[in-house]
Amino acid sequence: MLLIGAGPVGLAVAKAMLRQGIAYEQLEADDDLGGNWYHGVYETAHIISSRKTTEYADFPMPAGYPDFPSAPQMLEYLRSYADAFGLRPHIQFRTKVSMCLPLADGRWEAELEGGERRVYKGVVVCNGHHWDKRFPTYEGTFAGEYLHSKDYRHPRQLADKRVLVIGGGNSACDLAAEAARVGRGCDISLRRGYWFLPKTIFGVPLPEMVPGWSPVWAQRLLLRVLLRVVVGRYENYGLPKPDHRIFEAHPTLNSELLHYLKHGRIRPRPAVERFEGTRVFFADGASAEFDTVVCATGFNLSFPFLPAGLVPVEGSNALLYGGCTLPDYKNLYVVGTAQVRYGFGPLMTPAAELICRLIKLQDEMELPIGMVLRESGARPPTTHLLDPHRALRQMRLARHTRALRQMRLARHTLPLLVGKERKLRRRLKPPAPSVIERRSLDMPNQSSDLKVF
Ligand SMILES: Cc1cc2nc3c(=O)[nH]c(=O)nc-3n(C[C@H](O)[C@H](O)[C@H](O)COP(=O)(O)OP(=O)(O)OC[C@H]3O[C@@H](n4cnc5c(N)ncnc54)[C@H](O)[C@@H]3O)c2cc1C
Repeated sequence: MLLIGAGPVGLAVAKAMLRQGIAYEQLEADDDLGGNWYHGVYETAHIISSRKTTEYADFPMPAGYPDFPSAPQMLEYLRSYADAFGLRPHIQFRTKVSMCLPLADGRWEAELEGGERRVYKGVVVCNGHHWDKRFPTYEGTFAGEYLHSKDYRHPRQLADKRVLVIGGGNSACDLAAEAARVGRGCDISLRRGYWFLPKTIFGVPLPEMVPGWSPVWAQRLLLRVLLRVVVGRYENYGLPKPDHRIFEAHPTLNSELLHYLKHGRIRPRPAVERFEGTRVFFADGASAEFDTVVCATGFNLSFPFLPAGLVPVEGSNALLYGGCTLPDYKNLYVVGTAQVRYGFGPLMTPAAELICRLIKLQDEMELPIGMVLRESGARPPTTHLLDPHRALRQMRLARHTRALRQMRLARHTLPLLVGKERKLRRRLKPPAPSVIERRSLDMPNQSSDLKVF
């Protein structure tokens, strides 16, 4: 199997593949592992999800780590995870996959950046979803420095500048707080009302305060009560009232924004309307001059090495069955597209094991496992936001298949899928192999230097 990417998600999948005896090659474009925690976050970043809700389920972070480790600590942790499970020898660094195409026999052909081509039984995509910068569009052009939060690396970029941050997510708040400390001034432009949640309440990281076993309405109620006591009304900070319920958007966990708003170091602004030179006009008719505008406006979900549209994406939501498969393609698993409410680790450890079980089950089937899941009633997610507690409960259900079968409760659990596939095969014609013509992708035709793995 080809495993693309050696970030936190790719590493968890690699560990599960090794454990379950699935042969694989892990290709990583960069010269080291760690993904975002190696190359993709600003130097001063700390996680917003807490240590306990971010560490892998089977590999605790060092006891001496703080509740919210820094980017270098995260990288150190990921490196020690890779070393503990012997993952490094299987990673080929500086090896970027530029194209993956399905072959008629269900295998996949990969082309690397240097032009080398290899054939694999299948592909597991773990290329991350925090790299393809999304910019807003406005009338006019800003004549000062205009960057995306992804291009922000160090506070000196903001030092002594009049900074406008656009956005209300986690990066926006981090950058606004940074500009409040080192800049000449900082404004934050919000198109809508957000729930700004403090990182800790009563000294406990917020993600750890909310009991996962309780229903979401109870979690919302608890948070609303706590917020009313700890924060009060957002209007008292000059902020718009949230226009959605907690968890209907990715939560913003930040204790500094409200602090700096109250100290006058950050000024709230409504949506940007247009630029004229270095002057920015806002929706309320006000305007101001800035040196730097930072767009902390998120990312597109992209798979540049797959044919356009092969993975259907609506907004930020990838329409995958069982969280990682497609009904029309065998042996393709797209992992880590959902935005988990807290950290990646507790979910990725069991999810990676489950993906490996799907890979093995596919060997017993002719039809794509994504099609079997769809025909069994599974549906793609309606949002990219993932409730980790719910997802963990679902995975536990899938694991306890035997007991469930006896209880006649298991409709979609894993081994039953093989029987379902046999029935389906009798009913349905196998799909015409979805082969994509190389010519239509403007790629050279297959040559004799093709390596088969
Ligand atoms: C500022 C910031 C703060 C964050 N804070 C948190 C937090 O508090 N908690 C949390 O859980 N998450 C946080 N995240 C999210 C973060 O993205 C995840 O923690 C994690 O890095 C996702 O892992 P991943 O493996 O899916 O993706 P990535 O970390 O992006 O890794 C993907 C890897 O795939 C490689 N790759 C991509 N394309 C190719 C290709 N074509 N060929 C070969 N290799 C390829 C990349 O080089 C990269 O190494 C934050 C992100 C940002 C930007």
